[in-house]
Amino acid sequence: METIFSKILRGEVPCHKVYEDDRVLAFLDIGPLTRGHVLVIPKEPAETLDELSDESAAAIGRVLPRLCRAVKRVTGVKAYNVLENNGPLAHQAVFHVHFHIIPKPNETEGLGVGWRPGKLGDGESLAAELRAALAG
Ligand code: 5GP
Repeated sequence: METIFSKILRGEVPCHKVYEDDRVLAFLDIGPLTRGHVLVIPKEPAETLDELSDESAAAIGRVLPRLCRAVKRVTGVKAYNVLENNGPLAHQAVFHVHFHIIPKPNETEGLGVGWRPGKLGDGESLAAELRAALAG
């Protein structure tokens, strides 16, 4: 699917580039939640994380910690969230995989998370189902 990030990858839309290699591009978010909000995207055009190849996933995984260290060093903010949304219901607005690195300087700024934990009732059968899905 053609997205604004495809255009950024092709250089048709400008961005403030932070990092680039053969498989990955990182740039500043145009609407930062906080200063230092960086987006990390694969060059591969996958819509959601489950569609991404192992190679692109590995390439992103390899540079994410380094990018987080740079964001921490430059902003001086120690706490941060790494966020990756999949699907409109999960707040995905651009349908090209992207990881957000979002500094969290205090309680009010940065990412707010609504987290209402439930109870794990069928843990073992669910884990077994997932193991089977992974094997299949
Ligand atoms: P999502 O909600 O899909 O996880 O986040 C999409 C992100 O892309 C948003 O944080 C938004 O600010 C950012 N974004 C959308 N369009 C552009 C753009 O043209 N340039 C940049 N740098 N970021 C963008």
